[in-house]
Amino acid sequence: MKPLIVANWKMNPQALKGAKRLFNLVKKETRKVTNVEIVVCPPFIYLSNFFYGRGKTMIKIGAQDCFWENPPAGGGAFTGEISAKMLKDLGCKYVIVGHSERRRYFKETDEMINKKIKAALRNGLKPILCIEKISQIKKGIKGITKKDLKKIILAYEPVWAIGTGKACGIPEAKKVNLSIRKILMDSSFPTSSYILYGGSINSQNARDFIKKAKFQGLLVGGASLDSKEFIEIVKNVSET
Ligand code: PEP
Repeated sequence: MKPLIVANWKMNPQALKGAKRLFNLVKKETRKVTNVEIVVCPPFIYLSNFFYGRGKTMIKIGAQDCFWENPPAGGGAFTGEISAKMLKDLGCKYVIVGHSERRRYFKETDEMINKKIKAALRNGLKPILCIEKISQIKKGIKGITKKDLKKIILAYEPVWAIGTGKACGIPEAKKVNLSIRKILMDSSFPTSSYILYGGSINSQNARDFIKKAKFQGLLVGGASLDSKEFIEIVKNVSET
């Protein structure tokens, strides 16, 4: 199982030029890394700039959110939203759903997140379901078939660790990881499911979350905007 490293650029960079520079540096410097799956999630508005060599690319592209409807012509109006179907059509492979910032600032509920996960699956995208608490897993996956569960990636992100520079301690992260794994087993998730850790990851701590805390990957926010730091994270994980 290749570790998965997901870059969540959030609402950055502020201009396309900077986004292209960041992406191209990461692409160039990680081209020889074949044992890590890299996913970059830029803001919607930049997505179409980053599809290259369809299908054969090293870096996969994901979105940071999606809406749950994809109305047929004339059926429903959702100003400002982007459907999972549109993302799939563009070439996205992944979509982040239920990030804590969306839960907090946009009042997304577990029910809304569940509908988004289902829309992503219906349209052939792999959802990255972010949870701050273990209790959010069951609500997020309610009604999802066993076959589809294996396409869901879970990201454990303790809210106090996001953007604070204070990552979760390795022993505690390992404990939570094992508890999540147990819930997944009880919920018929395949044992090979990906569980990622997110929260103040940097090039110094990345490796330990994979090697010692046994996560299958990382969701990286702030450090993914610094090309050098992000490349270092990828390289360090590739050497575990
Ligand atoms: C995130 O927003 O998903 C995140 C993990 O942020 P950071 O790495 O900056 O803590």
